[in-house]
Formats: sequence, C-alpha cells, structure tokens
Amino acid sequence: MLHYFDAAIIGGGVVGSAIARELSRYELSIAVIEENPDVVCEASGRNSAVVHGGFAYDTGSLKARLCVEGNRMMDTLSSELGFRFIRCGKVLVGNTDEDLKQLERTMAQGKANGATGLELIDSAKLHELVPAVNGSFAMFSRNSGIMDPFLFTINLAENAVMNGARYFLSHKVISIARKDGRYVVHTEADDFSVKWIFNASGKGAKAISDMLGITGYRIIGSKGNYLVLDKRLGPLLPMPVYPVPSNTYMGIHVTPTVDGNVTVGPDAVNTDDFSYYGVPADKMEYLRESASTLWPHIDKKDVIRTFSGILSKWVDENGVIQDFKIEVRPDLAPCAVNLIGIESPGLTAAVPIARYAISLMAEYTSLKEKKDFNPVHESAKRFAEMDTAEREKAIKADCRYGSLVCSCEKVTEAEIIRAIHNPLGVHTMTGIKYRTRAMMGGCQSGFCQMKIEKLIEKELGIRPEDVRYLRTSSWVLSGKMREG
Ligand SMILES: Cc1cc2nc3c(=O)[nH]c(=O)nc-3n(C[C@H](O)[C@H](O)[C@H](O)COP(=O)(O)OP(=O)(O)OC[C@H]3O[C@@H](n4cnc5c(N)ncnc54)[C@H](O)[C@@H]3O)c2cc1C
Repeated sequence: MLHYFDAAIIGGGVVGSAIARELSRYELSIAVIEENPDVVCEASGRNSAVVHGGFAYDTGSLKARLCVEGNRMMDTLSSELGFRFIRCGKVLVGNTDEDLKQLERTMAQGKANGATGLELIDSAKLHELVPAVNGSFAMFSRNSGIMDPFLFTINLAENAVMNGARYFLSHKVISIARKDGRYVVHTEADDFSVKWIFNASGKGAKAISDMLGITGYRIIGSKGNYLVLDKRLGPLLPMPVYPVPSNTYMGIHVTPTVDGNVTVGPDAVNTDDFSYYGVPADKMEYLRESASTLWPHIDKKDVIRTFSGILSKWVDENGVIQDFKIEVRPDLAPCAVNLIGIESPGLTAAVPIARYAISLMAEYTSLKEKKDFNPVHESAKRFAEMDTAEREKAIKADCRYGSLVCSCEKVTEAEIIRAIHNPLGVHTMTGIKYRTRAMMGGCQSGFCQMKIEKLIEKELGIRPEDVRYLRTSSWVLSGKMREG
C-alpha cells in the first residue's frame, strides 16, 4: 500500500517523536516510520535518564547549546506531557589536585555554555548533600535532574498522535527513491510518498543518510552496561553521583531513578554490533567494583536486573567524536533533514533538537501554525501514587482498580487494560511494562508476567503464540508443551 504524507520521520525514538510532536504544531500530514513495535526499544529506553546541565560539551557546539535549552524547558515539558522529572541536582566527585583542576575547567566550560547553578563544594557540603558518598570535594550542578525516559518518549509520541501525526510501527525502511520532487520510502511493510524526510533513526542514521545520497559519515557504537538496584537503596542516593569526567566520557556513575531504584553504569565498550544488548557477567562485577569507590553500598544481592544501551557516535577519520550533525543538503538531498550522531545528551536535548531540525526545514518551505494544537498529554495518576481516598474513588468508578496485577509496583488490572489500548497501538509485553511499571519491581515479572500475557490475549482477541515480548521476532510462548 502507498501512503501520501507531507513529512515522514524515520525513527520513532525520543528525537523522532519530539520532531513529530513539534511538527504537529503545523498544518502538515505527518508519518512516523519505526522499525520496532514500540518507540523505546533502542537508545531512548536504554540510558541513564539524567537531564544534563550542559557543562560537559565544547562551548559553541550544538550539544552544549541544545542541552542547556533542553534542561531549561524540562519543567514545562514535564507538566505538559505528564512524565516525571525531578530537578534533584548532581555531583561530580573528586579527590586529587588533578581532579580539582578538571572540575574547575568543567565549571568554566559550563558557565561559557550558559549552564547555571554550578558550584565547587567542599567535603562538608558534599556529605550534607549525599551523606553516603566517598569523596573529598565536588562540582555541584544544582539544575541537573532525573526523568522517566520511557514516558517522556511515549508521551511525546502520543501527544503527536493526538495532534494528528500517524505512527507506522514495525515498518523498517529499506530504501528511498526520489521521484517527481517527492521521496518514495520503501519499508518492509507499506510504502510512503512524502515531500519531506527527517532522518531520526539513531543507530540506523548512517544507513538512511546513505539512502538519501548523503554519504561518508562514520559512526561507531559505544555500548554502556548497567545494573539496576532494588528500591531499598533509593533513599541512600538523593542525586546522581559521577566521577570527574574526561573530555569524552562521563564515567561510571550511580543514579537514582524517578521511581526509587538506583542504576549503576555505564561502562563504554566500542562495538560494531548495534543489536546485542546482553550484559556479560564480568561487566557486572566491573561496574559494581568501579562504582563502589564512589558509593560503597552496591551489594550483589540488591541487583534486580541488568540492561545496556548503545550510543551512536559520529567520528572523523581519526576517530575523534564529533558534535551532533543536523543538516539540510539541498545539493544532495533536497527536502530532507538529516540527523547524525545524536548520542548523549540526546534525551535532555530532544525537543530543542526537534525545533532546530524544523527551523532548518522552515528555511525552505513556509509552515502554517495550527490553531488547535494541544501541547498537553492527559495522563491518569498511577494507583501506586494515589492516597487512600483516591484509591477508593478509583475502585468505585472502575472495579478493575481493585485487582492488583503487579504487587511489587502496585499496578492494577484497570491500568494494564488502559495500557493495552494505548494510542500508538503497541501490543508487546514491554510496551505494557514501560507504560505502567508492571514487571519492573523486585520480582522482575516472576508473579505477574503470565497474568499480563493473558490480559493481552483477552483484550486483543489474539492467540497466545501471537503475543510478542519486545520485538516482532520475540515470542513469549512458542506452542503447547502438551496437546489437549
Ligand atoms: C548508555 C546510554 C546512556 C545515555 N544517557 C543519557 C543521559 O543520561 N541523558 C541524556 O540526555 N542522554 C543520554 N543518552 C543519549 C540518549 O539516550 C540518546 O541520544 C537518545 O535516546 C537518541 O534518541 P533517538 O531517537 O535519536 O534514538 P533511538 O531511541 O535509538 O531511536 C531511533 C529509532 O530509529 C529506528 N530506526 C532505525 N533504523 C530504522 C529504519 N531503517 N527504519 C525505521 N526505523 C528505524 C530505531 O528502531 C529506533 O527506534 C544515553 C544513551 C545511551 C546509549
């Protein structure tokens, strides 16, 4: 089938979804074409979830400018889109004279970048802020924070849909042709005839750029592994604790999540394989040992899960990491905005990246604002966060609030069912997990996974063997052990 749209965004991660949401402010028909069955399967759902202050990037770079902007607008985005963001601050902890010099350089760079709320603090102030940390002094970044990366991305996407954009999930782009002033985008499912293309495909950005005729980019993968610790440890860590950064790597840090867990990581291992997310056992031990020098509370028994993410870094011929590249190349690919090397701080900067990309488009075409654009994503309060009176009211209105499916995270049947009928039409097990937090607790799905699988079957009227875990090819069940 051939679909016609004004603009197609290839890649539905946080950047593609931010572009979709920001572009849906204008009178345009918009398609988001995404290879996976959900929008948080790659980097946007696999990161530290830190809202960076903007001090770690070269002055004058897009990374610095868009990060500072993203940090500033995060309170507004959080209240419009209904995802959790906590401006908790962050410390970069040092011990030696060399550490102090590097922190002074970092702070000067941050100030030049427009980052605010930066301060060098002594041991007493450091231990007042984070009592359980090891270190002699620190740079404190008051305006750094933590956020829910899943709901940030999902709610950007859902808000875009609410404002008229359409998502085509499980549509991998395999080739692009230019015909009669339009692009024809071929996917493994449908085809699209579009006037404008945004290449926001993360790890696929070089391949899509090549398809557009903008060749020569060199991308390397840097894999970061993480441990997730039980909520028992959350109260010991009021803000992210980082070591002193180098120019290219932030170092293994400990980070509280907005839901009360702690993550440990990432390391940084160069890789050509952008699809292998397994975490080897030796890396788990390395992370634990490394982070323990900063924060000595990491016990193996508190590790409830591991995960990893892969940064797509644009490097020059000498392997030197480059800035974000966001460009229109009318000589090679007219009417295409090409985004390359959107690594960290891509989460913090997603909306400014989107606005910048759209401003490049606006240099070539006039964009008419819609009168009825609605920036607000209405989100229902989680049962786990309701007080007793709110819970009673919710159960009276819908008795399925009275049935707990995930006891660890207190997720009810009503919430699971609402998540199954999400506006993007995501039907995977992890789709339910990222939208509700079911299966994210201490038991890591041991007690609720099959209840959720049954609810997906029932609500969607599908067979058990058609339920997918994360990707199109990841089945939850493959058949019956015994017939009859
Ligand atoms: C380990 C790690 C830690 C990080 N920590 C932070 C942090 O603390 N703070 C911060 O600000 N940033 C952080 N980042 C960076 C941030 O996560 C990324 O910059 C951001 O998620 C990039 O978003 P994206 O939409 O470009 O990429 P993605 O989320 O990868 O989305 C790209 C999408 O394109 C799709 N795609 C690819 N090829 C095709 C194709 N051919 N057809 C259709 N679809 C395709 C993919 O399936 C994918 O869904 C971190 C990243 C990593 C990996």
